Amino acid sequence: MNKSILKSLQPTIKGDVFSQKEFREFYSVDASSYQIIPKVIVIPKNEKDVINAVRIANKFKTSITVRGAGTGLVGSALNKGIILDMKNFVSCKLAKDSVIVGPGTIKGKLDRKLEECQKFFPPNPSIGSFCSVGGMLGNNSSGSRSLKYGSVIDNVLEITFVDGNGNKITLPKNKRVAEKILGFTKKIDKCGFPNVTKNSSGYRIDKVKSINDAHKVIIGSEGTLGIVLSAKLKIRNNPKKRILFVIEYKSIMDASKNCIEINKTEPSAMEFVDRTTLNQIKFKFNKKTKCLLFVEYDENISFNEKKLKIISTGNIIKIFKKKAEISQWWKYRDLSLYYSLKSIKKEKRVPHVIEDAAVPLESLPKLFTILNKINKKYKTKSIAYGHIGNGNIHFRLVSDRKKIVAIKNIATQYFEEIIKLGGTITAEHGDGLARSEFVRRQYGAKNYEVFKEIKKFFDPEDILNPDKIITKKSTIIENLEKF
Ligand SMILES: Cc1cc2nc3c(=O)[nH]c(=O)nc-3n(C[C@H](O)[C@H](O)[C@H](O)COP(=O)(O)OP(=O)(O)OC[C@H]3O[C@@H](n4cnc5c(N)ncnc54)[C@H](O)[C@@H]3O)c2cc1C
Repeated sequence: MNKSILKSLQPTIKGDVFSQKEFREFYSVDASSYQIIPKVIVIPKNEKDVINAVRIANKFKTSITVRGAGTGLVGSALNKGIILDMKNFVSCKLAKDSVIVGPGTIKGKLDRKLEECQKFFPPNPSIGSFCSVGGMLGNNSSGSRSLKYGSVIDNVLEITFVDGNGNKITLPKNKRVAEKILGFTKKIDKCGFPNVTKNSSGYRIDKVKSINDAHKVIIGSEGTLGIVLSAKLKIRNNPKKRILFVIEYKSIMDASKNCIEINKTEPSAMEFVDRTTLNQIKFKFNKKTKCLLFVEYDENISFNEKKLKIISTGNIIKIFKKKAEISQWWKYRDLSLYYSLKSIKKEKRVPHVIEDAAVPLESLPKLFTILNKINKKYKTKSIAYGHIGNGNIHFRLVSDRKKIVAIKNIATQYFEEIIKLGGTITAEHGDGLARSEFVRRQYGAKNYEVFKEIKKFFDPEDILNPDKIITKKSTIIENLEKF
C-alpha cells in the first residue's frame, strides 16, 4: 500500500515526497502529548501539487492531513496517511485594509511586515512568532487582544482552498457553494451552540449569517473540510497609544469577580496568571498575592485609567504607557505555558486535554469551583493562566502520571459541567485528538447531524484529516505519546 501511494505521488508531485523513517517520525508529533506515525510526507511546491495529492489520497482511500508549524496542543495535525506540509506557501500581498497570505506564512513574519506600515492582524496567539497562518485558520486561533477584536474567524474576508474532491474553491465568491453553506446554517439549532465570545469546537456554521460569510465554515475546521491555499485577512491601523495595568489579588475568586466588572469598561485585553507565572517575574509581589490581572486599553486612555482605578478591587502595582515596557510585561504572560511546564517535573505532567474551555463571563467563579472539585476528587493539582476576559482559562493538571489513568473520566466530568454552564470545551486550541469525541455532546444530536452533512458535502470519502471533529472513535487516550 505504502509503495503504491509512493509510486503514484513521486512522479506527480513537483515538490518533495518523503517516506523515510526519520521524516515519518518527525511528522508523528507536534506540541501536543500525542503521536501518530504517518505513511508519507508531501511538501507541495504549488497548488497543482495540493490538488494532485488530494486526488491520489482519494484514489488510495488514504487520509491526507495538512500541517502548518505543528504547534497545536491537541494533535490536530497528526494522522496515519499522507501529511501535507505547507511550508512552501509563503506569500504576503499587502493592500490598504487587507493582506492576502499563503498558509505557510509564519505569523511572526507577517506581524513584522505589517508593523512596517503601522498595521496589525489582531488575533495574537501567545505562540505567535512560530505558528503559521494556515494553522491559525485551521484552529480559529486567538489571543489576548481577541477580547476586543475577535478570533481569526472575525478577521478573514476570503479563503481559497482545495476540498476533499480535489476542487479549488474560493469563498464567499463561489455563489453555488456559498448558498449551500447558508442552507446548512438554516438547519442548526442555535440553542445548542455555546454562549461564549470565543469557540473553536465543531464547525462554526453559527457565524455564517449571509452568503458573504460562507468562508467562515472553513475556519476552525482543522483541515477536515479543505486545505487552505490562501486567505485574505482584515488588517487594522496600530492604535496610537496603549496603557497596561498589572493588578494583584489575594484570591482567584476576587480576581474573577472583579474581571466581570472590569470587562464592562471594554478593555482591549484582560489576561490572568496564577502564582506559577508570578514567581517567574522579576518583581517583588506581596507575599499574599495569589494571581494577577493584566488589563490593557488602546483608546480613551486617561478616561479608562480613572475608571479602572475606581473599579479595581485588587492592588494596581504597575501602570505602563511606554511600548517597550508594555511588550516586556506581555512577554511574561505569553510565556505562561513555558513557565508552567518548567515548574512541573516531567513525570508529573498530565497531557493537555482540559486545557482550553471557556464559559460565559458571569460563570467564571463557577469554572474555578469545578476545577477545585476535580482536583479534590482525582488528587491532582493545577496551574492556571489565560484569556480571562473571554472566560477562557488554560489549566495544566499536575499529578503522578502513573496514577492518572482517569484522564478520560476527568475530561468527561469537566466537559459535562462546562457544557451545562453554556461554555465551550475548546475556545482556541481546537478539538483534535483530545476533544473530537465530545463534539456531539457539546452541540447535541441535531447540530451534529448538520456537521456530518457539511463534512460529507466537502469531503465525501472522508479523506481530509479523518476522526477530527466528526468521529465515532475515542482518541483521547489511544494515541498519547509514551504514556
Ligand atoms: C506555547 C504555546 C502557546 C499557545 N498559545 C496559543 C494562544 O494564545 N492562542 C491560540 O489560539 N493558540 C495557542 N496555541 C496553540 C497553537 O499554537 C495555535 O492554535 C496555532 O495557531 C497553530 O498553528 P500551527 O501552524 O502550528 O498549526 P498546526 O498545529 O500545524 O495545525 C493546526 C490545525 O490547523 C490545520 N491546518 C494547518 N494548515 C492548514 C491549511 N493550510 N489549511 C487548512 N487547515 C490547516 C491542521 O490540519 C490542524 O488541524 C499555543 C501553542 C503553544 C505550544
